[in-house]
Amino acid sequence: MANSLWTIEEFACPGCGMNYSATKEAHSEKHSGSFRCSVCTAEVHAWSGNHHFFDWKAIQSRPPVFGRRWGVSQW
Ligand SMILES: [Zn+2]
Repeated sequence: MANSLWTIEEFACPGCGMNYSATKEAHSEKHSGSFRCSVCTAEVHAWSGNHHFFDWKAIQSRPPVFGRRWGVSQW
């Protein structure tokens, strides 16, 4: 197995503005999927490619630097 890269990304719901974070994992094969808002059921994010998103969480309080990525990123 190749070493996996995880990054945490943030998304805002287009319907209600709820903020979510998700862990993005790089894969060697293609994945696709989507995540829907648990509040208004709007599609927050859909993906297709050599990565997968999991561990979706609603962000209760906004971090000081909104939208910033952290973790390892080698894209
Ligand atoms: Zn929503």
